[in-house]
Amino acid sequence: MRSESLHRCATMDVHVNLGPRSYDIAVRSGAAEFVPFVRQRTKGRRAFVVTDHNARRHAEPLAALLTADGFHIDLVALPPGEDQKSLESASCLYDAFAAGRADRTALVVAVGGGVIGDLAGFVAATWCRGVPLLMVPTTLLAMVDSSVGGKVGVNHAAGKNLIGAFHQPVGVWIDTAYLDTLPPREYRSGLAEVVKYGVILDPELFIDLENHVDEILGRDPAVVRRLVARCCRLKADVVERDEREETGLRAILNYGHTFAHAFEAVGGYGSWLHGEAVAAGMVCASKLAERRQLVDHATTERQRELLEAFQLPTAPKRWDVGRLLDAMRGDKKAVAGRLRFVLPKRLGEVALFDDVPEEHVRAVLEEMIPPTQASG
Ligand code: NAD
Repeated sequence: MRSESLHRCATMDVHVNLGPRSYDIAVRSGAAEFVPFVRQRTKGRRAFVVTDHNARRHAEPLAALLTADGFHIDLVALPPGEDQKSLESASCLYDAFAAGRADRTALVVAVGGGVIGDLAGFVAATWCRGVPLLMVPTTLLAMVDSSVGGKVGVNHAAGKNLIGAFHQPVGVWIDTAYLDTLPPREYRSGLAEVVKYGVILDPELFIDLENHVDEILGRDPAVVRRLVARCCRLKADVVERDEREETGLRAILNYGHTFAHAFEAVGGYGSWLHGEAVAAGMVCASKLAERRQLVDHATTERQRELLEAFQLPTAPKRWDVGRLLDAMRGDKKAVAGRLRFVLPKRLGEVALFDDVPEEHVRAVLEEMIPPTQASG
């Protein structure tokens, strides 16, 4: 996989090649080309802009640009938060679409973070058996991950993302200037997924991250744009080769996530942001790989040091080890109760394992959680 230095000039647009479902990801700063980008990708002049209260400030100017171009726009703004990824919120959107007489040509424009993208995307996948979807991600996590690849869905009481579909967007419009309003903690949480790409696919990216910590934390616009474009290219490469998560390749994107989902479930959603849980989860997964002699200690330490430089957590809190293991057994990724882990072999190479003995996982957790606090 080709990578460019964060300071070298690189093309900012990414093409996702999926045959008839191919699309472009525009990585820009400013809305100058937004209307032509939309016009080229939709037949109708009817659009539903879905956003939340925090991203609304970015959605309204886009809605105004489309209105000025002759689009008939409805804007729906939901409260922020993971709770909105529900069938109830989907139902509210269906009601709005019905009231606005949305037909199969209506475009859904999802302006927000991963929550809005997943929810509005799910509604776009199901309304009239599928209408066109334009993703406009406004968080770093959504820019580098959730807006690309076509996974959309809502949560069920039994678990996250249990109700969903594959529905590729007609385009992804990324305006990195939206990150200026993102709270620092949300921004840093998105950086965990950026580090993940370095570990699973791109050692040069990892080194660039190590070398540009201050510019990245300072949200240097040019550096951030290149970073986002590079992560989108990496995700696109994976999605192109395993669109529907059938060959196992796409599963590598779950590096750190078996641990992370347990931290989120036991800690309670809201205790840690998703990226924070992924950060600690990646260090745990690398420790697990060390225990299996897949990777050397230095590789784990480099990950830990980079994540610490990005002010992200690198070890679980004082959670009960038994409860964490229970949560892992119940995870969507567990097959017949067997724990599945993506483990690193070296920077840029990981593999999927479903034969990890539970004692190894327990030992890693007990090592990572200070002994006086570990239990279970
Ligand atoms: P989020 O959508 O909840 O956004 C985080 C917070 O930032 C929210 O409060 C939101 O209102 C606010 N916000 C968004 N943009 C802003 C901006 N520019 N300025 C100020 N505030 C802003 O969370 P997220 O981290 O973007 O996404 C998490 C969700 O993404 C989870 O539900 C997860 O399951 C999903 N996800 C999906 C995929 C996928 O492939 N579909 C991949 C990864 C994660």
